[in-house]
Amino acid sequence: MKKPELTDAGWLGPKNEMDSASHHFGKCSECYEIICVEKAVTDGPSTQQETSEILHKAFRTHVKLKHSEDFRQAAARVVKEATKD
Ligand SMILES: [Zn+2]
Repeated sequence: MKKPELTDAGWLGPKNEMDSASHHFGKCSECYEIICVEKAVTDGPSTQQETSEILHKAFRTHVKLKHSEDFRQAAARVVKEATKD
């Protein structure tokens, strides 16, 4: 299986005014689902970097949830645990 990648990353909001953008999004190359995160709130000028990291973190979670066999097996185990009396 090809490893999913985060593609078409972009910002929601005015293009020329990064500070006004409220969300950062990207698309999963595997299932074309849009991953969207709120802009990080920081005091420094590194908001863009911070938000990028959050987006990538969210994407890694998405890959784990949707495209990882290991996770599916783990989830199945959790369900089994939860449903036994
Ligand atoms: Zn995906």
